[in-house]
Amino acid sequence: MKKHNFYAGPSIMPEFTKQKTAEAMIDFSGTGLSVAEVSHRSKEFVAVMDQARQLVKELLEVPEGYSVLFLQGGASLQFLMAPMNFLEKKAAYLNTGTWASKALKEAKTFVGPVVEVASSKDKNFNYLPKGFVIPEDADYFHYTSNNTIYGTEFFTDPVSPVPMICDMSSDILSRPVDVSKYILIYAGAQKNLGPSGATLVIVKNDALGKVTRPIPTMLDYKIHIDNDSMFNTPATVPVFGCLQTLIWLKELGGIPAVEKLNKAKADALYGEIERNKLFMATIPDPNDRSRMNVNFVMSPEYAELEKPFLAFAKSQGLLGLEGHRSVGGFRASLYNALPMESVQALISAMQTFEKEN
Ligand SMILES: *Cc1c(COP(=O)(O)O)cnc(C)c1O
Repeated sequence: MKKHNFYAGPSIMPEFTKQKTAEAMIDFSGTGLSVAEVSHRSKEFVAVMDQARQLVKELLEVPEGYSVLFLQGGASLQFLMAPMNFLEKKAAYLNTGTWASKALKEAKTFVGPVVEVASSKDKNFNYLPKGFVIPEDADYFHYTSNNTIYGTEFFTDPVSPVPMICDMSSDILSRPVDVSKYILIYAGAQKNLGPSGATLVIVKNDALGKVTRPIPTMLDYKIHIDNDSMFNTPATVPVFGCLQTLIWLKELGGIPAVEKLNKAKADALYGEIERNKLFMATIPDPNDRSRMNVNFVMSPEYAELEKPFLAFAKSQGLLGLEGHRSVGGFRASLYNALPMESVQALISAMQTFEKEN
């Protein structure tokens, strides 16, 4: 039976990425060796790294003066590298969920102050705060563009009087972004890019070098820029996988094409959740609802059907639909690589389940 992968991360990758990575595990670029067993300084691997960085620049229209890096340590390491490299006198953070809270917590380990400009914790992060004020003397404003666990997402860049830093782990490359408004964008690979183990970083060169603290070598963006992401051994196989996804995305038509697909998938699923009497969305304001992570629960009068629906979905090959433990219910992750066909399979299962109950 066909499997439909709704896992939140690690998550679905394009067939193209899996196929090319599997082939390269045996014979990489005609070397007769696996991509996992050649030097990261070989000309074949250097070409992979260069092409991956170049394609990110092309697809996201990264302006001159920015560097693209593939680091390790996940988005979680970026939570501390960001303040380490940019926090001098004050930082502003928006708290919209678990990951945003973790980023804030790391910033607070530095000499601040670190200001929480707004939080949606009062309603279990089921909305995006509006009308908050960002202090004009902050070094930067940090936010999370897509809240993977709670299912809210910003679809436009916020207006900020200071440069922005954004955790785009779960919606990078799913819609256009005006990179020029940011000094730093980061994303763990395992949602929209490829296998876990690589972290995409886009950093503005001339924003660096302004803090007075000494920065340990491995945590210094400048070192990684000067060494073309090869200061130490990069995550070679994950970077290879990311490159395949970037090639796939370009062939699909780039960001405009994938954004259109993502809108269509999310509209179809939210539409069914609204229509189907058994289910309801957990994010009340349709404008705040994520296209990447669709959160929903059973309507209160059908609450006892939660486990049976999960079991039924599994029997239909629909995998990874359990909601995060802090929200409950269901979460369908509709990342770039998830085809419309999988959304239709989920909708059809929801309709069958409604008829039978
Ligand atoms: C998954 C995720 C993280 C954590 O990423 P790691 O690579 O595990 O450190 C951070 N932020 C967001 C928005 C995420 O979705």
